[in-house]
Amino acid sequence: MADVSFPEIPPACLEVVMHTWDFLDGQLTAATAASLTAHIEACQQCRDFQLFEESFLEAMARLRRTLHAPAGLRERLLVALHEEGFAAR
Ligand SMILES: [Zn+2]
Repeated sequence: MADVSFPEIPPACLEVVMHTWDFLDGQLTAATAASLTAHIEACQQCRDFQLFEESFLEAMARLRRTLHAPAGLRERLLVALHEEGFAAR
């Protein structure tokens, strides 16, 4: 993996950014989730970021319930993802 650094972002905040999707999906270990939760509670920027991400996910979930993809789109997406190695069929 490439060495990625963001010198303008404090390391603890960068951890939140890097793990936010796994955090929101409940995919982190209890210790990592507790560490991120403690930081988010203490850091206004990360609290704002987390609220934005949660709102984004909620909006996407609402849209998914109300909008329907054109016929065949789901199948084409699954094929394309499979061809790129991202999903099993
Ligand atoms: Zn932070």
